[in-house]
Amino acid sequence: MLDTPKKPDTAAPKVSFVSLGCPKALVDSERIITRLRAEGYELSREHAGSDLVIVNTCGFLDSAKAESLGAIGKALKENGKVIVTGCMGAEPENITAAYPDVLAITGPQQYESVLDAVHRAAPPRHDPFLDLLPPEGIKLTPRHYAYLKISEGCNHRCTFCIIPKLRGDLVSRPAGDVLREAERLAAAGVKELLVISQDTSAYGTDLKYATSTWRGREVKAKFLDLSEALGELGIWVRMHYVYPYPHVDDVIPLMADRKILPYLDIPFQHASPDVLRRMKRPAHQEKTLERIARWRDICPDITLRSTFIVGFPGETDADFEYLLQWLEEASLDRVGCFKFEPVRGAPANELDGVVPDDVKEERWHRFMQAQQVISARRLKRKVGTRQQVIIDSVGPSVAKGRSMADAPEIDGAVYVASRRPMRVGEIATVKIERADAYDLHGTAAGF
Ligand code: SF4
Repeated sequence: MLDTPKKPDTAAPKVSFVSLGCPKALVDSERIITRLRAEGYELSREHAGSDLVIVNTCGFLDSAKAESLGAIGKALKENGKVIVTGCMGAEPENITAAYPDVLAITGPQQYESVLDAVHRAAPPRHDPFLDLLPPEGIKLTPRHYAYLKISEGCNHRCTFCIIPKLRGDLVSRPAGDVLREAERLAAAGVKELLVISQDTSAYGTDLKYATSTWRGREVKAKFLDLSEALGELGIWVRMHYVYPYPHVDDVIPLMADRKILPYLDIPFQHASPDVLRRMKRPAHQEKTLERIARWRDICPDITLRSTFIVGFPGETDADFEYLLQWLEEASLDRVGCFKFEPVRGAPANELDGVVPDDVKEERWHRFMQAQQVISARRLKRKVGTRQQVIIDSVGPSVAKGRSMADAPEIDGAVYVASRRPMRVGEIATVKIERADAYDLHGTAAGF
């Protein structure tokens, strides 16, 4: 007779939820509850007997504030472990003045912060046989790399872009939240983090670089400090969408020391000062050339990836020739180029000097041809070197991976021959034997 399998002792933590306020707050509550359910938490109608209580507050009118404070008081009395979120969380001092014992306070739409607070107070009890979700959540990327979003929105007003209209101004996640997520991903086997946002180097300016706790110390919500802390995780950390602020220079030594990958995805968009002004972007491209030279002095093998727009309204032949010359001097490793297209609602659509489609097309081809020669030249320098390569997929005789210079989806690949079968996600040392226009080819020389 077969034994009936015993139910493992993995009772799910119970959360009691109070949702107050308007439909927007209700949507926030739904999102938090959905995430909690997906992570295996159970919901309870009773504060007593639950592992903790979440109160989603409303702070619109004084009467709503009073109701919210009443709900927090009741939860503290009946349970004791209370996390407060929602509109009243935007002014946490009003809550702590009345209830200094609440575990955490977050503002509206700060789902990640609420979930982090819940994880700290009542960790999810993961059981791979019972739960459908892995502890790091559902990732749409392969297991060995993951995107890490550090902020939403943007404070710039580039005239071709409607992101600030769609997503609003910059809102950064506290450093502790970002680092805990990064740590969870690393613990789940992720070997490479791709740091993303609309404007990575502006990280934390909206928070006035506020500190938060991670590994028992205070970490500033600042590009350099976050980069340093991520560098402690011992996995690859790749920086995307870095706006060319002067303080970007500060992270280059971290790249030279391999704390983070020597890779900078830094969209320049153009080089002609006139076009940059019309784009409302920083317009000191001679200085940028000097900076690039300095970055290469500090970190000789830094990979620079950028994007450009040709055919922007008002771009003259002289502007375009200037761009081509700048490109030759900058000698960037990887470049994407777009033909300007009016996006509905973008201020650039109102600018005069529309460039005809056939001119745009011709400029785009000339730009791409010029850059192809530069990229191939840069790639050829790697022949004969040894590169660390992370393996993305394996075939019968050759595996496909990426060096530190290659981000997934957008850059080239390294094709690796190996005497022993390779595993997806492993990092091998590869002797580079050949380069073509975009990719490298080599043989595994160490694991
Ligand atoms: S292009 Fe980038 S930096 Fe400029 S407004 Fe859009 S998101 Fe912000």
